[in-house]
Amino acid sequence: MKCPYCEKEMREGYLYGSKDGAFSFSNEIPGVFSNAKNEEGFIQITKLKAGHRISVKAYVCEECKKVIFDY
Ligand SMILES: [Zn+2]
Repeated sequence: MKCPYCEKEMREGYLYGSKDGAFSFSNEIPGVFSNAKNEEGFIQITKLKAGHRISVKAYVCEECKKVIFDY
């Protein structure tokens, strides 16, 4: 995949999280004690997978400091 910013080839790899948390997306960062699924614009990026690190295939451009991934 080519970087949309500098158009150089991006490096393929995995974006992953801590053992206890999956990646999600929303308009604002929800409070620690609120259910993130109720946050406006919520999108689940990764599912929790017991016994595995949460990960998603990703492409990185170290020059532009950009990461691109599908969910
Ligand atoms: Zn780039």
